[in-house]
Amino acid sequence: MNTVTELFGSMVFNDSVMRQRLPKEVFRQVQSSIIDGKRLDSGAATVVANAMKDWAIEKGATHFTHWFQPMTGITAEKHDSFISPIGQGRVIMEFSGKELIQGEPDASSFPSGGIRSTFEARGYTAWDPTSYAFIKDRVLCIPTAFCSYSGDALDKKTPLLRSMQAINRQSMRVLRLFGNKDVTSIKTTVGPEQEFFLIDKDVFDRREDLIYTGRTLLGARPPKGQELDDHYFGAIKPRVAAFFKELDEELWKLGVMVKTEHNEVAPGQHEMAPIYTTTNIAADHNQLTMELMQKVARRHNMVCLLQEKPFAGVNGSGKHNNWSIVTNTGVNLLEPGDTPAENAQFLLFLCAVIQAVDDYQDLLRISVASAGNDHRLGANEAPPAVLSIFLGDELDAILTAIEREEPYGGKEKELIKVGVHVLPKFPRDSTDRNRTSPFAFTGNKFEFRMLGSSASISGANVVLNTAVAESLRQYADVLESADNFEAALHDLIRSVIANHRRIIFNGNGYEDSWREEAERRGLLNLASTPDCVPLYISEKNVSLFQRHRVYNERELRARYEIKLEAYSKVLHIESLTMLDMVRKKILPAVSAYTGSLAESALAKKELGDGFDCSFEEDLAKKLSELNAAAAKQVLLLEKEVKACDQITDSLSRARYSRDRVLAAMDALRSLVDEMEELCAADYWPYPSYGEILFSVQ
Ligand code: ADP
Ligand code: MG
Repeated sequence: MNTVTELFGSMVFNDSVMRQRLPKEVFRQVQSSIIDGKRLDSGAATVVANAMKDWAIEKGATHFTHWFQPMTGITAEKHDSFISPIGQGRVIMEFSGKELIQGEPDASSFPSGGIRSTFEARGYTAWDPTSYAFIKDRVLCIPTAFCSYSGDALDKKTPLLRSMQAINRQSMRVLRLFGNKDVTSIKTTVGPEQEFFLIDKDVFDRREDLIYTGRTLLGARPPKGQELDDHYFGAIKPRVAAFFKELDEELWKLGVMVKTEHNEVAPGQHEMAPIYTTTNIAADHNQLTMELMQKVARRHNMVCLLQEKPFAGVNGSGKHNNWSIVTNTGVNLLEPGDTPAENAQFLLFLCAVIQAVDDYQDLLRISVASAGNDHRLGANEAPPAVLSIFLGDELDAILTAIEREEPYGGKEKELIKVGVHVLPKFPRDSTDRNRTSPFAFTGNKFEFRMLGSSASISGANVVLNTAVAESLRQYADVLESADNFEAALHDLIRSVIANHRRIIFNGNGYEDSWREEAERRGLLNLASTPDCVPLYISEKNVSLFQRHRVYNERELRARYEIKLEAYSKVLHIESLTMLDMVRKKILPAVSAYTGSLAESALAKKELGDGFDCSFEEDLAKKLSELNAAAAKQVLLLEKEVKACDQITDSLSRARYSRDRVLAAMDALRSLVDEMEELCAADYWPYPSYGEILFSVQ
């Protein structure tokens, strides 16, 4: 066995491999293209391509692919082999600079939200040198962006890279004002904590709903769920430990810094987190992590469920997006400093995030919206659909003191003057204990907790980066034209706190009283995907993205269409799956059981008066009523699905899917779940919640 340090990054064409294998001058060019985003010239690209190919072949690769992230939210690859004919039936292994830099996958079936049909342009992929190439299953994978020839982004990576440039531009303006001369760039960093379920594959294979939709559409509550909290941080079972061991090794080879793994609250639920890194690399790595989790689980005869809410009444799975801003000199701008100047800078960046979350609550909500996540947000154990920020009592008190120009502090209370005074130290630990907040400050980073477990993290980070860039832009505008920097800064910070205080909430976000309070504060409560997505293309949001050159209006409209379409499609598949399950298995099973009850009752009657058949008769009657009602509900659901199919406008269709199709599904489910509770186990055609949740022992 290799040691972990040998294993780590062994399948990655990283800096140290490049340093070894590239001529000095070419290495330097690649480095500068990583830093300034300059395109590599064709000569250098040829050299890099050759070195990559030789390295990949030594590692056993035979193919290469441009690895990209279309708007489906998952990754795509089309493999080409390195072979090139040289006559007489012989081949050599080739990979040109051109093939490295640009590809033209025939990817016309990916959703484009109408972009490609209008512009008749094929999509092309372009190398992203800021994310290392790697080898997966004997294929050299080159991370790429995916665009149309007219330049519109058709993927999730391009806008993310643009948003990182936007926040870099505006942060640099602000940093210059603070007299920072050594910093030349900033980037955002992310560490996503990933939740998921592991269930046994044999159980999975017996449920069409899990197979087709990733979640259970039916299922009565198990006698034991998560109420004892005995799974949380419990001992990891041997089968799961074997899975984690293999997953770690696979991910380490790809340079993914997986660090922590533990059991989550629900039975069968787990979490893993990597060490944070640059946002676009974190996004690539999270995609690889999700892909490998599913692959490795299969090798252990398990299935990894990434769906947000696979089981009703049981904790759903999310993704916690830990986010901060770091300078190229290694300073975390969201970490309180030691000097008055550092603290003033920290406060301004803190304000930038507070204002961004308040001003763009809608966009943040949209960035996590999906049919699956709708079942989770607002449920009791997940962050509510209302955005708010948790700062912790201490930081909150400091901000309040600044806003009101009141003294703050322990023994020697003093008036905090931004830029003049050092902030009182607040223990970092005390900031991280509110698990109910959708957006929490955790000492030196923010943790955005509304993301669904199956989603790409790109969308949320595009919004975060761009919205914070916008706050910073406004601050830079004000401060650049100020005569007295310190006084202007002080006033600015005070006014931001005063204007955006409503978004700060340190209480329990799961309580109903918060929902009412949030409404009083005028915060948005966008419960479902069809509720929030229309705001994607509001004037305010279009102009935000345009101003920072993250999305043009066409690109935004495309994403609006795709989100709504995806929502309706998911509900369509779910409803058809449910109909199939109920019609083909549930109704016949209940009918058979009712029949056998009736037969028993009859048989008993034949035996004479001494036999009590009330159990059989009552149950047969109850089940036969429920089954008849379910059969009627099947017809109703079928009718709603057909009616929905006729609707062409994507928003109306999504709304109809939610109001009518989903409602009909819920009604059918409750009838079926009631029958499951009454039906003999031998007759019930599907593994129960208990069997699924406790299937991995
Ligand atoms: P928890 O939130 O469960 O207490 P941790 O505090 O250990 O867990 O951190 C969770 C994630 O936050 C990890 O992926 C970690 O690498 C990441 N993280 C820590 N610091 C930063 C940072 N400055 N920027 C982004 N992510 C960070
Ligand atoms: Mg966390």
